[in-house]
Amino acid sequence: MRILVIEDEPKVADAIRQGLEAEHYDVAVARTGEEGFFLVSAETFDLVVLDLALPGRDGLEVLRTIRRRGLLFPVLILTARDTIEDRVQGLDQGADDYLVKPFAFPELVARIRALLRRGRLDQVLRLKLGDLEMDLVRHQVVRAGNVLELTGREFDLLEYLLRHQGHIVSREMLARDVWRQAARSAPLDNVIDVQISRLRRKVDGPSGRRLLHTIRGVGFTARSEEA
Ligand code: CA
Repeated sequence: MRILVIEDEPKVADAIRQGLEAEHYDVAVARTGEEGFFLVSAETFDLVVLDLALPGRDGLEVLRTIRRRGLLFPVLILTARDTIEDRVQGLDQGADDYLVKPFAFPELVARIRALLRRGRLDQVLRLKLGDLEMDLVRHQVVRAGNVLELTGREFDLLEYLLRHQGHIVSREMLARDVWRQAARSAPLDNVIDVQISRLRRKVDGPSGRRLLHTIRGVGFTARSEEA
């Protein structure tokens, strides 16, 4: 399980990192909202621990952006702010839980465990984009009421694009995360391009509104609105 901690105070961040690593979680730390947002866009995490008072882009803004992009992992807010308005605002913006500093470390771990359990049960089991819905339990993709017949690779590829919807997915990312190859290569690039065009034929069809887009020279993106 990978956890991202977005926290600007080095002492707090290090303590959380060490504590979670002792619980056998794989932990990454971001010191600013920008860095945190960059990491959640580029990598895959199972949960994010988010400090609200960050320099630059603050925690609530990061949270809003995360949810607007359709990223569904649980977010636990960690903050010194302690008013009811703060809690309500955080939960309204899509946080899953809230812990006020100073906190007891065992409580943080217990809450993380509970969120990850819940996350496995319901949260990340459905991905949506426009009129397309992916059911990760039944391994089924439906667009506008029609079930799409996808191969295993096409399903994985579409899932990856949906998890990064609104973001550009490069061929490097697909080679690494979907094809599990250490490096990109010309033959693999060809395979990726062929798979993408097959997937697009099935997803977008001849007349559907386009969900899968090629960004020339950069990669691909899944989004519902025309840019
Ligand atoms: Ca802070």
